[in-house]
Amino acid sequence: MSLAASAKLDKLVKQQYMKLPQGDKVQVTYIWIDGSGEGLRCKTRTLDREPKSIQDIPEWNFDGSSTYQSEGSNSDMFLIPAAMFRDPFTKDPNKLVLCEVLKYNKEPAETNLRDRCRRIMSLVEREHPWFGIEQEYTLLAIDGRPFGWPPNGFPGPQGPYYCGVGADKAYGRDVVESHYRACLYAGVEICGTNAEVMPAQWEFQVGPCEGINMGDHLWVARFILHRVCEDFGLVVSFDPKPIAGNWNGAGCHTNFSTEDMRKEGGLKVIEEAIERLAKRHRYHIRAYDPKGGLDNARRLTGHHETSNIEEFSAGVANRGASIRIPRAVGQDKRGYLEDRRPSANCDPYIVTEALVRTCLLKEEGEEPKEYSQ
Ligand code: ADP
Ligand code: MN
Ligand code: MN
Ligand code: MN
Repeated sequence: MSLAASAKLDKLVKQQYMKLPQGDKVQVTYIWIDGSGEGLRCKTRTLDREPKSIQDIPEWNFDGSSTYQSEGSNSDMFLIPAAMFRDPFTKDPNKLVLCEVLKYNKEPAETNLRDRCRRIMSLVEREHPWFGIEQEYTLLAIDGRPFGWPPNGFPGPQGPYYCGVGADKAYGRDVVESHYRACLYAGVEICGTNAEVMPAQWEFQVGPCEGINMGDHLWVARFILHRVCEDFGLVVSFDPKPIAGNWNGAGCHTNFSTEDMRKEGGLKVIEEAIERLAKRHRYHIRAYDPKGGLDNARRLTGHHETSNIEEFSAGVANRGASIRIPRAVGQDKRGYLEDRRPSANCDPYIVTEALVRTCLLKEEGEEPKEYSQ
């Protein structure tokens, strides 16, 4: 197995420097989504005092011509601080700050889907929409093969790996546990983790988060995962079908509820939401991966615990459906629904926005509606 250059550096030597006091200064790492809509970028600056809230963090800028975000001749992009977390890598008092990207004219960049999501969420605040996302991902070695897979072959068939334990079943738990702890430290609402069906594939869950927080927390959890993997010399892939054939793909199941769904008798409200979703399948499929459905076409085959991309379906405890009502929700007659369609590389801002538009703003048809604010 080839080892990444980043992993060859001596982490013990680094500790020597990380123990040095940093005085009154604070390091703030600005994080943003690049022009691919999937990649994350970051850069760090020093502040003179610890920011107590997002308002204390100044706007900044970067060279958009190096992030697929602008032409070289007009390349400055603005970074607008949006959500602040503790930095689990350099620790207190240092911060991670997720940013929105604005263009030179202060309009949101093409891949800044947070701006619109935030406006849609503000329309439905009274219904208290909660989300919980199950982020599946695959660990790769630097050569692009899933971590721990034999170089010229395949591991044994799927079966023993899901929630598995043992060196022949769980590939890369060090990464998973480091990421979990780092998320807790940062203040990311991570609520669980498990090994997945394909060896070297894992999942973590974030939520429940209300409104815009879902996207913020998931993106920061992804950043932390990339960063932890960097330390271990591995690469994380959010490709929805990293290995073709008889291997499970990777999704971002999105669990969704409103106050009415969580209250007694909420199952009826959930069923009404599913009826609306049934009539708007194509719109959702377009929103659920960065390529308008092309990525998910490789994954949503109707096999390997997925539904067919062409058809909408729903059912209690049905893991082959587009929408699943968890068994406990069917029994309690209240709770939430699970949309199993979003791809592992989806943008949670547009996924949560689409659910709100269809289920709460009762939109129909292929196009999202415009609202005057
Ligand atoms: P699965 O059985 O599909 O694997 P998981 O346990 O992996 O389910 O994930 C469940 C997800 O549902 C978590 O992200 C959790 O935050 C979320 N969740 C739980 N209750 C609610 C709720 N009322 N509304 C929205 N999301 C919820
Ligand atoms: Mn799960
Ligand atoms: Mn899963
Ligand atoms: Mn699920």
